[in-house]
Amino acid sequence: MPYEIKDPAGERSAKSAMLRGLRGRCPRCGEGRIFGRYLKVNEECSACGEALYHHRADDAPPYVVITVVGHIVVGLALAMERSLQPDLWIHMMIWAPLTLLLSLLMLQPVKGALIGMQWAFKMHGFDPESPEAQEPPPSLAAS
Ligand SMILES: [Zn+2]
Repeated sequence: MPYEIKDPAGERSAKSAMLRGLRGRCPRCGEGRIFGRYLKVNEECSACGEALYHHRADDAPPYVVITVVGHIVVGLALAMERSLQPDLWIHMMIWAPLTLLLSLLMLQPVKGALIGMQWAFKMHGFDPESPEAQEPPPSLAAS
């Protein structure tokens, strides 16, 4: 058996779809990979064939990442400033690389979770009833 569709009734659990997306896995089957490269979404799931190119994550992943990383880094920087009052260059040596690292680490899982959410809520082409569902994958679309 190459794969098993875990919700044969066609119900889409947002929680499981987002958790699967967080792990970079197909929101439908949880087996195939969403990403071919860092943030490049595969056109379809290699395990179940679900069309993944219908996602419209756009600017949402960086927006979420900026919000979360900003709260972490600003909170820690303020706490360090209040308790230790280090020189400004020490702040820069800690918080600039940490911001970059956290952002790069969080972008892919956050994008995966948002794609899972869009799939679960049948947004855009993920709704089989939507005209967007008929749109061809980018590799076949006229350029
Ligand atoms: Zn799949």
